[in-house]
Amino acid sequence: MKIHEYQAAALFEAYGIRVPKGRPASTVEEAVEAARQLGDGPYVVKAQVHSGGRGKAGGVKFAATVDEVRARAEEILGMTLVTKQTGPQGRLVRKVMVSETISIQKEYYVSFTVDGAAERVVMIASSAGGMEIEQTAQETPEKILTIRIDPVIGLKDYQSRDIADQLGMRGNVVSEFIDLTRKLYRLFNDKDCSLIEINPLVVDGENHLVAADAKINFDDNALMRQSDIAALRDEYEEDPREVEASKFDLNYVQLDGNIGCMVNGAGLAMATMDIIQANGGNPSNFLDVGGSATEERVTGAFSILLSDPKVRGIFVNIFGGIMRCDVIAAGIVAASKKLGVGVPLVVRLEGTNSEEGKRILEESGLQITAADDMADGARKICALVHGKEA
Ligand code: GDP
Ligand code: MN
Repeated sequence: MKIHEYQAAALFEAYGIRVPKGRPASTVEEAVEAARQLGDGPYVVKAQVHSGGRGKAGGVKFAATVDEVRARAEEILGMTLVTKQTGPQGRLVRKVMVSETISIQKEYYVSFTVDGAAERVVMIASSAGGMEIEQTAQETPEKILTIRIDPVIGLKDYQSRDIADQLGMRGNVVSEFIDLTRKLYRLFNDKDCSLIEINPLVVDGENHLVAADAKINFDDNALMRQSDIAALRDEYEEDPREVEASKFDLNYVQLDGNIGCMVNGAGLAMATMDIIQANGGNPSNFLDVGGSATEERVTGAFSILLSDPKVRGIFVNIFGGIMRCDVIAAGIVAASKKLGVGVPLVVRLEGTNSEEGKRILEESGLQITAADDMADGARKICALVHGKEA
């Protein structure tokens, strides 16, 4: 789960990390009021969307006076911000943060994330702050410093000191960096983060380290024990189909292809996506309805596929073990009655109660292409979607 910059900055503050004073605002009037509360300018008005690259896209603007804050907030609120990370459709800006500005002497990059292969939390730092880290990684990889953190020992001060040295930090900035990274590592563990990123981490005019940007992602699987974090969720920022899927406890990931997939089991779902690709098709989603889905959940799942305007065909690939094929069939029929199926539907039902499932589908009068097995189904849906003979 992602949160907004203003929310991440508040968490930083709670951990004693220096951030610019700032306030969120949903309207122009609130933005003006926020500026007044902050005191004298200059100010910076920043779009609050779950995406980086806002600066380059026109989502970060400076304002000398309260009147200018009004003008910048009018521009940014309601705009569709297209950044490198949003895709071409962009993101509607529903909130801004109005902050005091900081004078920048030097910009660094620092982040904490999980290196799955190393089974460690890693700290990544760079003297190329303010740049996109992906670009730095490509062009000047030697500028990226990484340390792996032993989960038993934790992050030790000498490790942070070593990084600070390599970044060229001097004097009080070194001790502030050690203090900062210690707090970030504690926050990372306390709150089950998957990423904390400060870009840029700034040395300001008074020679202090300040987090000028704040990004935190959390492990979705830990949200059940992080109710204060779960409460920060902003559903407007998430894919509507993924939000809908989470209400039904479905494992759903939106993709950009046009063949909807409904499968039981994550492994079979992955294999289904592969075999669709192997046949020249492109899946519009990953969907694992799970091993013990109820009819209601299956109905929800199928409705999500039907509601995706990109979908040109649907492949249902079920190998029933604990999952019963008749439950799947009933869910398909219920959702289809509600929403109608305007696209080709290929169904492969195998395993527990498959005969009963096939009978339910047959009696429903739905236009269904039956598949003998997974390969046959993939071939058929790709042919139907691409207009060739099945
Ligand atoms: P991002 O583009 O989404 O990563 O948004 P940032 O919060 O990082 O802002 C973009 C850029 O604006 C930063 O890299 C900084 O160079 C600049 N910036 C942001 N806040 C301030 C500020 O208070 N003072 C100055 N001088 N620059 C700022
Ligand atoms: Mn940034």
